Amino acid sequence: MIETNKDWIELRDGIRAMCKRFPESYWRDLDRERKYPSSFVKDLTKAGYLSCLIPKKYGGSGLNIRAASVILEEIHRSGGNGAACHAQMYIMGSLLKHGSNELKEKYLYDIASGDLRLQAFGVTEPNSGTDTLSIKTSAIKNGKKYIINGQKIWTSRAEYSDLILLLAQTQKYNKVKKNTLSLFLIDMRKHIGKEILIKPIRTMVNHSTTEIFFDNLEVSESCIIGEEGRGFEYILDGLNAERLLIAAECIGDAKYFIDKSTEYGNQRNVFNRPIGKNQSIQFPIAKAYSRTIAAELVLLKGCNLFDTQKNCAEEANISKLLAAEASWDAAEATMQTFGGFAFSEEYNIERKYRETRLYQIAPVSTNMILAYLSHKVLGFPRSY
Ligand SMILES: Cc1cc2nc3c(=O)[nH]c(=O)nc-3n(C[C@H](O)[C@H](O)[C@H](O)COP(=O)(O)OP(=O)(O)OC[C@H]3O[C@@H](n4cnc5c(N)ncnc54)[C@H](O)[C@@H]3O)c2cc1C
Repeated sequence: MIETNKDWIELRDGIRAMCKRFPESYWRDLDRERKYPSSFVKDLTKAGYLSCLIPKKYGGSGLNIRAASVILEEIHRSGGNGAACHAQMYIMGSLLKHGSNELKEKYLYDIASGDLRLQAFGVTEPNSGTDTLSIKTSAIKNGKKYIINGQKIWTSRAEYSDLILLLAQTQKYNKVKKNTLSLFLIDMRKHIGKEILIKPIRTMVNHSTTEIFFDNLEVSESCIIGEEGRGFEYILDGLNAERLLIAAECIGDAKYFIDKSTEYGNQRNVFNRPIGKNQSIQFPIAKAYSRTIAAELVLLKGCNLFDTQKNCAEEANISKLLAAEASWDAAEATMQTFGGFAFSEEYNIERKYRETRLYQIAPVSTNMILAYLSHKVLGFPRSY
């Protein structure tokens, strides 16, 4: 097993011990039936890992983004998948940084204890895609309430979440202005099957993703996060955390694949010698390993900047880009190393291969990261 980082050793040992109770057969069986990993999420919550970013005064573990990234990396490295629960970590910042004291007091203790689940993040819509500013879901003020109408797509884990962080237009969309969007924290429990309809979408990975329809949903004005019209700004702020944490999941996947392919390459004998003697097997793995190390260095820098309240947008984007490419390279190399056995469900490679492909597209596509770097860092004219 390659060890590239020596930080948070106790945390790593703890999460590794927990993950041992959820072997690859657990994830494989869930994947086959597209079921949610409830017992895993329960244990993760009980151990305090899921509440790592909630401050101690609200009952959380009060750790930082680097610790959260270590937790997700280790889950992925063990063959598991953090998609079941990672949203709680990366959307926490919006509530902590911009939410009212009333919202924090009302929800954070119960989220930390696991009595309340905050796992759904509703941004993407069928007709706006990557162009977030043009979403159609509206939240119209009526006295002390907002009336919400519209549709979201790819809202993952909504069926396993009590609360949703929702982005909606509080004013008519204006192509030039960015202050028409607002962010809401909504308790969905009483509305499911009435004003909120959730429809699961079956996908190539076990991701519990859904589409959600809002039909005249009335919520109190106190559900708004921060100020009306600043939702897009708050989302952008939170996206850096999301990118860093997804980069960590990719690094976990990359290390999983590198562990598997080096072990298999050394022990599988064909033509009376290990296949790992062939450079056609060695070099792609060595290349993926190098890319993993590079991604990890940028991730460490990004986490360090984030945890010291400095701007980490460039590092968050670059680490997500490099890590998603490294995990995909490692997945490809591992498929080739395992040959025909890579296709057998029993070996788990095909499942992890499907899972790690997602990160080239969601939660942010590689294209949009390259566009960000081109426009914001390199100074090219905007392409859209
Ligand atoms: C399994 C899964 C889970 C998800 N979970 C969530 C969730 O919980 N919450 C949520 O809100 N969303 C979620 N998403 C949505 C995800 O964030 C989007 O799919 C992703 O951002 C891409 O948007 P899109 O699918 O609409 O693609 P589109 O915007 O239609 O883009 C299609 C392709 O065109 C490219 N493209 C578009 N415009 C440009 C441009 N200007 N320059 C360069 N390339 C461009 C894109 O990069 C992409 O490759 C999830 C998606 C999946 C598949």
